[in-house]
This record gives sequence, C-alpha cells and structure tokens, in this order.
Amino acid sequence: MTKSVRFDGIGITNGKVSGKIKIFRSYEGKNKGACVGSIEDEKQRLELARKSAIKETKALEEKALKVLGEKEAQIFEIHGMLLEDEDFLDAVYSEIDKGKSAQEAVTLTAKSYGEMLKALDDEYLSARCADINDIASQLIRFLTGDVDENEENDTEPYILVASDLTPSETVKLEASKILGFVTFGGTPSSHTAILARAMGIPALVGTGTIGEIYEGKYALLNAERGELIINPTKEQKSEFEKEQSAYNKIAKEHEMYLRSVMKKPAVTRSGHKIMIYANIGSDSEVASAISNGAEGIGLLRSEFLYLSRDKYPSEEELFSVYRDIAIKMQGKRVIIRTLDIGADKQIPYFSLPKEENPALGYRAIRICLDRQELFKTQLRAILRASAYGRVSVMLPMIISLEEIKEAKKLLDECMTELSTRGEGYDSKIELGIMIETPSSAIMSDTLAREVDFFSVGTNDLTQYTLAVDRQNPKVTHLCESNIEPIMRLIKMASEAIHHQGGWIGVCGEMAADLSLTQKFVDIGVDELSVSVPYLLGVRGKVSECK
Ligand code: PEP
Ligand code: MG
Repeated sequence: MTKSVRFDGIGITNGKVSGKIKIFRSYEGKNKGACVGSIEDEKQRLELARKSAIKETKALEEKALKVLGEKEAQIFEIHGMLLEDEDFLDAVYSEIDKGKSAQEAVTLTAKSYGEMLKALDDEYLSARCADINDIASQLIRFLTGDVDENEENDTEPYILVASDLTPSETVKLEASKILGFVTFGGTPSSHTAILARAMGIPALVGTGTIGEIYEGKYALLNAERGELIINPTKEQKSEFEKEQSAYNKIAKEHEMYLRSVMKKPAVTRSGHKIMIYANIGSDSEVASAISNGAEGIGLLRSEFLYLSRDKYPSEEELFSVYRDIAIKMQGKRVIIRTLDIGADKQIPYFSLPKEENPALGYRAIRICLDRQELFKTQLRAILRASAYGRVSVMLPMIISLEEIKEAKKLLDECMTELSTRGEGYDSKIELGIMIETPSSAIMSDTLAREVDFFSVGTNDLTQYTLAVDRQNPKVTHLCESNIEPIMRLIKMASEAIHHQGGWIGVCGEMAADLSLTQKFVDIGVDELSVSVPYLLGVRGKVSECK
C-alpha cells in the first residue's frame, strides 16, 4: 500500500482539484542526475541523440515551412546547421573525454558558447546564443529519453509540479491542460503567481522539494488549505470530495453574485467613482477583461510578448498586437507598460549579464534607456497603436526625474520619426510612471509635474520599501504585517499627483486585496487595476465602500 504524503505551501489562488501529478523539468533541472557511462558509451549516446535531433529538426523545418512560412522555418535550418557544426561537437567530445556525462558535456559547451557569443555584444550573435540553448535542450531531451516531456500531448489534464517556473515557461503552458500547479519555491507576488491568478487556476507555492518519484501519482490539491496530498487515503479522498462539493456550491453562488455586480457602477456609497481596470499580459485576455466589466486596461505587461518568443519582436509585430488591443477596447484606456525585464524575468536572446542582486540591477527602464533602439522600437509601436484607440505609455521602475526626461526625449524623437514616415499617432498621448520604488514616492511632487498619472506597483514597492525579496518565501510574512509604510508612500504620491491635476491607480497585487479597498479609497486612489478573475470582486467591494 502506497503511503499518503502531505506538502504544505501558500495557496495563491482559490480552488480544489484532484488529478495526476506531472513533474515539470526545466532544461537546467534535467541535467542534474545525468548518468555517466564509459567515455565511449557517452559518445555513442550523444551520437544517437544528435541523429534524432537532426531528424526532428528537419521535420520541424518542413512543418514550419508549410504552416508558418520561409522566415520562421529558417530558425530550424540554423538549428540543423548547429547540430552538424564540427567545432561545437568537438567541444562536447572534449568535455566527455574529461569524464563528463553526455548531458553535462552538452550543457557546459552550450554555456561556454553562450558566454563567448554574449561577450561579442552583437545583436545577431546574441540571437544565436538562444539557438545554441535550444539545440542543447533538444539534445538533452533525447539523451534523457524525455522526448515528449513538457510537450502538451497528454490527453488528461494534470496537476503541474515544478521546482520553479520562470515567467517564460509559465506563459508557454497550455492552461486548458493544467488543473492546478504547485511550485517548490515562489511567493504570492512572484510573477509566476501573478500569471497563475490571471489563468484562474488553483495554485500553491513554497512547498519545498517534491520528489520525482511522485510523477503520475494521484493527488489532491487544496489551495484554500495550502496543501497537496499525494496518494491520499480513502478517508482523505472522501473528506476532500465533501469539501470540494461545498466549495463548488459556494463558488457558484459567488459567481452569481459577481454577475449581479456587473450591473452596479464602480462607485462608493458616497458617490465616489473608482475606475476598475484589468491587468493583462497578452491580447488573448482582452475579451475576458471586457466580459468581466473592465473599464480599461490598467497594465499591459508588455514584456510577456517578448518572453514568449525566441527573438526580438519587430516594430510591426508589436504594433499589430497593441493596435488590436486598442481596437478591441473601443476607446477605453489601454495603458501599455514599456518593457520591464531583468530580475526574475529573463529572456535568453537579451543576453543580460548575470548579476549578484538582479532586482537591484539592470532591469526595466534602466535597460531601455541603455538599449535605446530596442526602447524606441517599442515606443514607435505604441505611438502607432495610439491612432486606433486611447493608448497611454507607462514607464516601470522609475527612481528619478532624469529618467522621465530621457524617456520623454526618446518619445519625442519617435514622434518626429513617425511624422517623417507619414504614420499617424496621438501627439497628446498620456504618459505615466509606475511608483515602484521608495525614491519615486518620496520624489513624487517633483515627478508629478512631468507626467499625467501614477500607477503604484505594490509588488515592487513592497519589495524595495521593506527590503523583502518578492521571490523568497522565507520572508513573505513580513509583507502582511507591514502594510502601513506602503500605504503612507501611496498617500504621498496620491497627494502629489492630485496637486498637479493628474490621477493615481494601483496595479500591484494589493489592488485585489479586498481588505484594503476602503483604505485605497480613503487615500485618494482613483483606479484599481487587477487580474481578470478579480475584476468583479473588486467592483463589488468598491460599491460597498464608504
Ligand atoms: C508591481 O511591481 O506591483 C507591478 C505591477 O509590476 P510587476 O509585478 O510586473 O513587477
Ligand atoms: Mg513591478
């Protein structure tokens, strides 16, 4: 009889689901535990894996040619060439000769090639670095026999269990196959948790390690209780089912209440209007935002369009997504936050340097002001989309007036370039900044003179004010008990922006915390922007506020 095991974590969304466990292995994770045969064995295994990878790449190239077109198929042509590249293979063989397993040899070689390419600081070669990682990942899949792993060809939905999911891994998941997910690490304000909320599936973070032996085992995920029970006993299963049916009944009633809320205006009892906006990461969430009563998009996390790709999106690609969102929102405000990568949001083709303290390092506006062509490509795309709706630009991670001035200078340059090209745009486009650093809140009276609005990113503002790493479950509890300093900073910013005739919103996860809604109203917040599943709840709460 298999023993039942329980893992405790922090439930970041509600719900109870049961199903089989599927362990998600990231490329790095697969290499640990690699087996080492004799040098000849390892070389032979590598050769077999390489042959399979070449075959797969050819098939992918043909498919891409048919379905996507010549340009997209080129990627696989490059992969095919890399798999035949003698220098690369010699480097892998030489690692095997040193006693490394085939997996390790591939990983080490890919890493040193990546470092070498990055050091050249060339955009084209940086993109090749992502190709090297891709073929390394492909070879490892064949070497470990995990050929279909993480690919979405399972017919039955499952509970996904992962050590951690990077934001780019999370965006690539197919939500319809996932009953719920569990990560060993992570916190309620990590980007993975934010995405889980947007997907509206039960999720648990911070459970500690769950061994691979549980792959395929039946489990009960109870996000309310913050627990995952693997191999449940009959009693545990029947108790869970009872709780689940009670929960589903309440959830249904709540759903009905939320539908009734749709008819209520988002106005407090004293008649004060609060704008209820949606946080989204992609075009695909717009329809549900509208059907859940979003009065605008308060935060388009534009980096997710970069995270789900293998290379820099072009101005045209960005423009077409932004334009579609602007059109679908039919004149309602769409706030596009400019690229916010770095820290936990890493994109291989950006080749960002490895840093000791990435959250305090090269991220967001700092990257954009440094890599100006990249930034201007996005700004031009946003400006062009502004001809199709009510689009606003929002800058993340601002700490100083100089950053705003520099960004405005680049925005002006983009306007001039577009005028020269004869492209239309809104020359009075609204500009806002995120209040995510104590510095921006403290300097808000000065900063408010330069912008139309503020939007408070409480996830980062909390992290930087309380010195609490938003990725570290060991210190998460410090956030709940220290809300007052955050509220005081928001109040400062609120007074400053109102003094200049602008407005202020909150778009961090705190905006969805119903126990804080009244406080936000009291300190003058004009807008609350939350993930789609929380829109109606927040609207209902606002209508109950004084
Ligand atoms: C925030 O920091 O609160 C925010 C909304 O931005 P992100 O979560 O994407 O860092
Ligand atoms: Mg942030």
